Amino acid sequence: MSAFEAMTFAPAVDLLPVTRRYAALGDSYAPQVPTTPLPEPRLLHFNTALAQQIGLDAVAGQAAFTAIMAGNLPWPGYAPISSVYAGHQFGSFVPQLGDGRAHLIAELQGRDGARWELQLKGGGQTPWSRFADGRAVLRSSIREYLASEAMHALGIPTTRALSLVGSPQDVVRETIETAAVVCRAAPGFVRFGHFEYFYYQDRHDKLGPLADHVIGEHFPQFAGRADRYQAWLTEVIERTARLMAQWQAVGFCHGVMNTDNFSVLGLTLDYGPYGFMDAFDAHHICNHSDEGGRYAYDRQPQIGHWNCSRLLQATLPLLSEQPEQAVEIANGILEHYPPAYTRAMTGLWTAKLGLRETREEDPELINRFLSILHLGHSDFSRSFRHLSRVRSDTDEPAHGVRDEIADLAAFDAWTGDYRARLRAESSNDAERAARMNAVNPKYVLRNHLVQAAIEQAQGGSYGEIDTLFKLVNRPFEEQPEMERYAEEPPPSAKHIEVSCSS
Ligand code: AMP
Ligand code: MG
Repeated sequence: MSAFEAMTFAPAVDLLPVTRRYAALGDSYAPQVPTTPLPEPRLLHFNTALAQQIGLDAVAGQAAFTAIMAGNLPWPGYAPISSVYAGHQFGSFVPQLGDGRAHLIAELQGRDGARWELQLKGGGQTPWSRFADGRAVLRSSIREYLASEAMHALGIPTTRALSLVGSPQDVVRETIETAAVVCRAAPGFVRFGHFEYFYYQDRHDKLGPLADHVIGEHFPQFAGRADRYQAWLTEVIERTARLMAQWQAVGFCHGVMNTDNFSVLGLTLDYGPYGFMDAFDAHHICNHSDEGGRYAYDRQPQIGHWNCSRLLQATLPLLSEQPEQAVEIANGILEHYPPAYTRAMTGLWTAKLGLRETREEDPELINRFLSILHLGHSDFSRSFRHLSRVRSDTDEPAHGVRDEIADLAAFDAWTGDYRARLRAESSNDAERAARMNAVNPKYVLRNHLVQAAIEQAQGGSYGEIDTLFKLVNRPFEEQPEMERYAEEPPPSAKHIEVSCSS
């Protein structure tokens, strides 16, 4: 008998009761698939704050709970399931993808009253693994674990991360690495690709029950309405537009914006070769597997729009029985995207500049600032953070921010206009600085910081994971002892390559 088979529940483990609501949709959406145990699982990090919120803090220290987080024991009362989906990957339709290494292990109502689903990533093969091993390596698991919480702390909708478990089990990628499992937590994990799967398979009768599940669980305000699909899709399209604006505002590049990585709840989902930009380059490509730059920084809003058009295509049968009318309704829904994006983006940029009002001339002001950063490869986060030091009541050169800038003549001219704009709304410098420091993060999860934590973990030490976890949980606060984590990467670490390999 192996170590995991021998392990049974300590009576003290008192987990929250589970419900089977997504699972109740049945096998054609998500068949039951057991997880595959990992040898010697070790809890490398645990998100205590999230566990408290959900109501799992009391069980966290117990060995049986670690076993559950590793996929070595099932959650009492819930048989794990893995869902099938499809998706447009780099623009081409792939008819069948699915949770190739993900298992939903519990659906529960948290102590916070919210609905939570817990999903293990890396828990072994499923019917949707397509010849791959069903595992995730420690490297990419650390990246996902930290990014989820970094984005959450920035106020950006995202799936969360509850735990990170490591195992000495070998996993073969370009080199031999070791396995890890992240437990992700979210209200739900339904993707655009779930709808695409049934649409392109011509199993249109499967679309309604899935949409009704999503609406019933996550958009109850629309449930029961005759126009509920239209209302829900409009909401998804608007949420996606706002999400893209939020990514742009912090210099976040997702890296793999395939429709199977887009959430129908408007959450950031599937952290692979993502990156928070250091030096600003409007055309920055963070994923080294993305040769054509399809998912470059400045294309993200457009790709978000295209992905929404794919979701609407896949849900046409829900909108009307008459194809022409369905297309007309879908086009009407899609029209919500550009204004929702522009409204959100304008609001975020003006907030980043510390403006209280929005005026006609503001887009020009922000675009000029961005182009100064772009042309001089200035650090994106540092430049915005330091902008709060520009004073409107004096023409003294702004300390700090000038150090980030290459073209000082252009910047000084811009600063003159910025000061005039601030005076035009009678801006108070101290108040403005406080507002700006609450939206321009001091600390973002820069690639070279995560890389250091990964390399340390690969050597058997996990302290840096915790250091970064705490750091990015307070991105807007000055943390004087952490000053070096706000610096741009050293030249040797500027070009860390991240790819789809995970
Ligand atoms: P991703 O690029 O991580 O979004 O993955 C694309 C698809 O490949 C998803 O359906 C994944 O579940 C699947 N996949 C990726 N890596 C693996 C793996 N190691 N084992 C099984 N399936 C995988
Ligand atoms: Mg994915």
